[in-house]
Amino acid sequence: MQRKTGFSTKAIDEANQINPRSIIPPIYQTAIFPYPTDEAPLVHGHPLRYSREDNPTVLALENVIKALETDDEKADSYAFSSGMAGISSLFFSKLKPGSTLLLSSEVYSLTLSLANNLAKYGVKVNVVRGNQLIDSVTSDTTMVFAEVMSNPTLNVIDVPALAEKCTRFNAFLALDNTFTTPVNFKPLESGARASINSATKFLAGHNDVSAGTVVGLDISDVWNWRRMLGGILDPHAAYLVHRGVKTLKVRVEAEQASALKIARELEDDKRISKVLYPGLPSHPTHDAAKRILRGYGAVLSFEINGGEREALSFMRELKLIKVAPSLGGTESLVMHPASAFGGSMSKEELKMAGISESLVRLSVGLEDAEDLLWDIQQALDKVVKP
Ligand code: PLP
Repeated sequence: MQRKTGFSTKAIDEANQINPRSIIPPIYQTAIFPYPTDEAPLVHGHPLRYSREDNPTVLALENVIKALETDDEKADSYAFSSGMAGISSLFFSKLKPGSTLLLSSEVYSLTLSLANNLAKYGVKVNVVRGNQLIDSVTSDTTMVFAEVMSNPTLNVIDVPALAEKCTRFNAFLALDNTFTTPVNFKPLESGARASINSATKFLAGHNDVSAGTVVGLDISDVWNWRRMLGGILDPHAAYLVHRGVKTLKVRVEAEQASALKIARELEDDKRISKVLYPGLPSHPTHDAAKRILRGYGAVLSFEINGGEREALSFMRELKLIKVAPSLGGTESLVMHPASAFGGSMSKEELKMAGISESLVRLSVGLEDAEDLLWDIQQALDKVVKP
């Protein structure tokens, strides 16, 4: 019997299958491979011939991500040049004119825009709040798409209940696992058919690469859409993502310990009117989070007393935490969801997603929690009267 290996062992060891003569998987910096030839190895069931289709460095990463997301050998795993490249390839492969896509209103703003644009290809798009998804699945639903933990309100979906309903109605459940990561949650183990990550965030983890991953069952056609849309990951970027993934578990665990500490402090601060962190009992989806997640993640959002002016001034006064529209990296980052998403979401959509003008999202990195707290306090001191 083969020994069961742990998360980080898989993250480090799995890719070595690709070239056992190299401890670190080499970067195959080539666009082409000898073809036709009797010796062309099969990758995803196709002969290796062209890097827009497959590349061994990309495959090494795909094997690692698959091992982290599921034990199911039947699953396929594909890596992309961004999370959006992965999501669009999945949408195109699963939806056609007449299909119905049921979507949570709390997904990333460009996922929402992409879905709304699919209407012009004859896809029916039904957008509902995350907590209404389960009741909205019907025999007409082709695909359900949601984020396990939503951005920026950190609402956690009751995945087992949603998956049960999707199975009953034969709807394909695809979950964006970006905020939760396979460290804290594995969608396929809870009945979802696909798990998507913007690997730009926690998986790569160092704010220096753009990438996406899709792992799932019955998704072999995604390979075809990836090569038609041209969204495969570059081999150099695949190497960087894999290097990041080796430390994913230790990073996420350290970052979420700091996030919990900061969330608790802010909840006691009179200058903050609301803290959204699923690890706090006050969070609307704390119970679901406690039941299904291994950890609560490293992102929290909070409303500062006042409005947009106070939120933006607070961000300007920060000295250590950077203002940037991403998350999941070693550097702590803040952003203002109402203005960042305002370009692609209407006022109504912002309101529906629970994004107020004073809301600030904080992605906690690997700096010391005490320094981050000092930075937040000193910025609040300048902006908000106690
Ligand atoms: N999913 C979530 C939850 C995101 O936050 C983002 C981007 O911010 C994406 C998907 C898109 O990923 P990418 O920026 O890698 O295309």
